[in-house]
Formats: sequence, C-alpha cells, structure tokens
Amino acid sequence: MEAEIGTCEVCRAKVVFTPCLGCGAGICETCALFELIGSGCGCVWPAYYCPKCAWDPMVNPNAAFRDPPAGRESITSK
Ligand SMILES: [Zn+2]
Ligand SMILES: [Zn+2]
Repeated sequence: MEAEIGTCEVCRAKVVFTPCLGCGAGICETCALFELIGSGCGCVWPAYYCPKCAWDPMVNPNAAFRDPPAGRESITSK
C-alpha cells in the first residue's frame, strides 16, 4: 500500500483535490462529488465523496436523494 500523493484514484489523470470522506481515496476536483451532510441536530457540513461512495447509501446518508448516476443501472461493490 503506497501513500502516493498526486493522482486521482478515480480517473488517474488529474491531481488529487481532496480525500473521499467515505473510502479515503484521493480524488480530483472533477471526480469529487460535493455533499452536505446533516447530523440531525441542525448542523450540516460539506463533504466530498468519490463517485462510488456518493451513491452508496452505506457511506453517504444522502445517497438516496441523489439522482442515479448517468449511464449506470446500479452500483455494486463487485
Ligand atoms: Zn479524477
Ligand atoms: Zn469513496
């Protein structure tokens, strides 16, 4: 496991912008999906997810409210 900083783990073409809040993968500004996470006490905070985690209800509590990813039937972990 190499802690290589620099290349987006999604597209492997761009520079890492932020780690994914769900899986920790480094993602570039293009691949990062912005999300506002509500804690239930009225507080919300910004988060960035990789495309995989953004639509994963186990990771992103707002996944159900997102539009389904274009061009994909479903996202599974396999
Ligand atoms: Zn990328
Ligand atoms: Zn992720």
